[in-house]
Amino acid sequence: MTYEILTVPCLTDNFAFILKGPGGTAVIDAPEAGPIIARLEAEGLTPDVLLLTHHHDDHIAGAEELRAKGAKVWGAKADAHRLPKLDVELEPGKVDLFGDPLTVIEVSGHTVGHVAFYHEAAGALFSGDSLMAMGCGRLFEGTPDQMWQSLRKLRDLPDDTTVCSGHEYTQNNARFALTVEPTNPFLNDRVQQIAQMRTEGKWTVPSMLGEEKKTNPFLRADLPEVKSAMGMDGADDTEVFAAIRKAKDDF
Ligand code: ZN
Ligand code: FE
Repeated sequence: MTYEILTVPCLTDNFAFILKGPGGTAVIDAPEAGPIIARLEAEGLTPDVLLLTHHHDDHIAGAEELRAKGAKVWGAKADAHRLPKLDVELEPGKVDLFGDPLTVIEVSGHTVGHVAFYHEAAGALFSGDSLMAMGCGRLFEGTPDQMWQSLRKLRDLPDDTTVCSGHEYTQNNARFALTVEPTNPFLNDRVQQIAQMRTEGKWTVPSMLGEEKKTNPFLRADLPEVKSAMGMDGADDTEVFAAIRKAKDDF
């Protein structure tokens, strides 16, 4: 495999990722610099690029220390005013990263101006706090419709995409998902796998997009069986998504 993805646990439940490729090394999000720099050094890597998904401190706090190690900082032009100083201001669409295309996807909802990064050659999506394992980020700035449209874009990616999301919230997400779709067999299987992994002290991130499509209630708001389970037969997709998000906020 040409690309390798290294998962770096940070703070209490955050993740940064290192994308190691033939043409260079990118770090995705910087919750804190220490563990990321330690892992880079252990692998004999230097950071060429730091990609930022959104402006929250638990995704950018380590940016200046990584810049000092040589990383150019890339982030959304639309959010440049509240991100660390950007060397490259990104607009939605494709850019070149070390000779392969990186797709910048606008995924407002958790924040407005949040972006996700899809790297086709690595088969990886770096989703920050938009799509999460069996969940999605809370709507701090965006509307339910913005988040639903954002998640639909991510859902269009191939099933074998590795979803590198920002937090280890999966077990709580799983408990909530079961309240929405208690009879979904894929969900029941996955909830057991997740419980087993956590018992063994393993991280449940990254996850596979194909699994998310079958088990993540936030990607499934337009399905008749989910509408029915929410007592919202025939309702508008966005309304169902909003109801699921609201139920999770109150969970
Ligand atoms: Zn956030
Ligand atoms: Fe976060």
